[in-house]
Amino acid sequence: MSLITHWIDGKPVESSGERTQPVFNPATGAEIARLGLGTAADVDRAVASAAEAFEAWSRYPLGKRAAVLFRFRELLAANTDELARLVSREHGKVVSDAAGEVGRGLEVVEFACGLPHLLKGEYSEQAATGVDVFSFREPLGVVAGITPFNFPVMVPLWMSPMAIATGNTFVLKPSERDPSASLFLADLWQKAGLPDGVFNVVQGDKEVVDAILHHDDVAAVSFVGSTPIAKYIHATASAEGKRVQALGGAKNHGVVLADADLDDAVNHLTAAAFGAAGERCMAISVAVVEDSVADALVEKLAAKARAVKVTSGDQPGADMGPVITAAAKERIEGLIGSAERDGAELVVDGRGHTVPGYENGFFVGPTVIDRVAPAHEVYREEVFGPVIDVVRVSGLAEAIDVINANPYGNGTAVFTSSGESARTFQREVKVGMIGVNVPIPVPVAWHSFGGWKDSLFGESHIYGPEGIKFYTRGKVVTQRWPHREQRADASFHFSGD
Ligand code: NAD
Repeated sequence: MSLITHWIDGKPVESSGERTQPVFNPATGAEIARLGLGTAADVDRAVASAAEAFEAWSRYPLGKRAAVLFRFRELLAANTDELARLVSREHGKVVSDAAGEVGRGLEVVEFACGLPHLLKGEYSEQAATGVDVFSFREPLGVVAGITPFNFPVMVPLWMSPMAIATGNTFVLKPSERDPSASLFLADLWQKAGLPDGVFNVVQGDKEVVDAILHHDDVAAVSFVGSTPIAKYIHATASAEGKRVQALGGAKNHGVVLADADLDDAVNHLTAAAFGAAGERCMAISVAVVEDSVADALVEKLAAKARAVKVTSGDQPGADMGPVITAAAKERIEGLIGSAERDGAELVVDGRGHTVPGYENGFFVGPTVIDRVAPAHEVYREEVFGPVIDVVRVSGLAEAIDVINANPYGNGTAVFTSSGESARTFQREVKVGMIGVNVPIPVPVAWHSFGGWKDSLFGESHIYGPEGIKFYTRGKVVTQRWPHREQRADASFHFSGD
C-alpha cells in the first residue's frame, strides 16, 4: 500500500507523525493508499522552506517569473489526461469532468501568465510642482491555501498560480480525501522550473490547519470548503492578524420561469444537479419553478434523472460517478429520507442505488424531490449529493424572495426568454454569481469568483483581479527631485501646489 507524502523544499517528505488515514477509490469502496497526516512540525518545516525561498522568488524579474508560469501551463495541458484519471480514481467523478476541472484551473494559470501586465502600477506625473506619485504592489510573503475534496486540482489552481505569480511562496493543505493531485501539481511546478520551496504541500487534517492558522510566518490564508469551517478559518486567522479569504458552502437555486425553453432548462438543470454527483459548490440543488410549468418540468426532469448513466467515473459513457465516502452516502440518503418524512414528494429516489461490478462503491442515484418547502430539512441543509429539490412558486417575485431568504448566496441561475425578467432577477437577488440561461455561472479567470452571505467570509473574492489584490499590498511613492536652486524652506501646511 503506497504512503502519500508531503512535498517540502522540492521533494517528497514523509509525515513526522504517526497518524495515517485511508484514501479510497469511491467507485470500488477499496482502500487504494494511505495518507500520512502531518503535524505542526511538518508545517514549521514547510513554512521555513517557503520563507527562505521567498527571499529570492520575490526578487525574480517579472519576465522570468512569467516564463515559469508559461512552462507550467504547457505541462498542465500536456498532462491533463493523466491528472484527470488520478482525480477520478480518488474523487470518483467522471474522467471527462475531471479533465474539465483541470481546464478551468488552467485558465487561471493563463491569466497569471500575464503577471508583468497585472502588476503594473499607476503613475501620476506632476501631482504637484516637481512632484510625481506612483504606486505599485508587493507580495505578502508565505501564504497558505486550504482546499476541499470536490475540486482537488481546480481549487488549488484558483490560489497557487495567483500567489506565486505575484511573488509569494505557497503552502498547500489539500483535502485528505483525494490528496494525490497536489503532489502531481508539485512535480509539474518543479518541472516548469519553479525554485524549490516556492510551492509546498503539507497533507493532513485539523492539526495541520490549526498549525497554519497560528503560524507567525504565514501572512495570508485562502480557504475553500464548508461554511462552518470557513467561518472558523476566517475568525481564527483574522484574530492572528492574517489576511483571509474563506469561501464556504452553497445552496444554489435555478429559477425556471413559464416563458423559458423548458427542454433547454431541463437539460441544464440535469447536468447542473447531477454532474460530479452534485458535489460542486455551484451545483444547482434547488429548481424554483413557476407553478404553471411545474408539472411538465418535473415530468421531464424525472425522465432525465432516470436516464443518467451512473457508474465508475473511468467507464465509457459514464455520466455520474459515486459520492466521496461511505459516510457521505449515508448522510445524503438520510436527507432524502427526511424529505419524505417532511411531506415532500419523492419522484425519483436514488437511495440504495447499486452498480453491477461496483457493489461496494459509494453510489447514490439521481434524486428528484417535488413540493419541497423552505422549512424542510433537505432544503435547509447543503446536501452535496445528486439531489434536486423542486420548490413551486407563483412567479418571479416569489422566486427572488425564496432565494434571498436562504442563508447562502453563492450562485444562482434564471431560465427565461424575457430580458426584463432576467434584469429584474440579476438586480434583486442577493447572490454573488448569477447565470442567465447559464446553469453554473463560474466566472472566467479574468473575473473573480465569490459568493455572498454564508458562502464567503472576508472581503476578497478569489482569482482574477481580486486575487492579484489579495496576494499583494500596495505602496505609494511621492517623489521630488529638485534642482539645487529650487529648494525651498520646509512648509508647515498641507499644499497641493
Ligand atoms: P470541508 O470544510 O470539510 O474541508 C475543507 C478543508 O478544511 C479540508 O482541507 C479539510 O481538511 C479542512 N477541515 C475540515 N474540517 C476541519 C476542522 N474542523 N478544522 C480545520 N480544518 C478542517 O469541505 P469538503 O467536504 O472538503 O468540501 C465540500 C464543501 O466545500 C461544500 O460545503 C462545498 O460547498 C464547499 N465548496 C465551496 C466552494 C466555493 O467556492 N464556495 C468551492 C468548492 C467547495
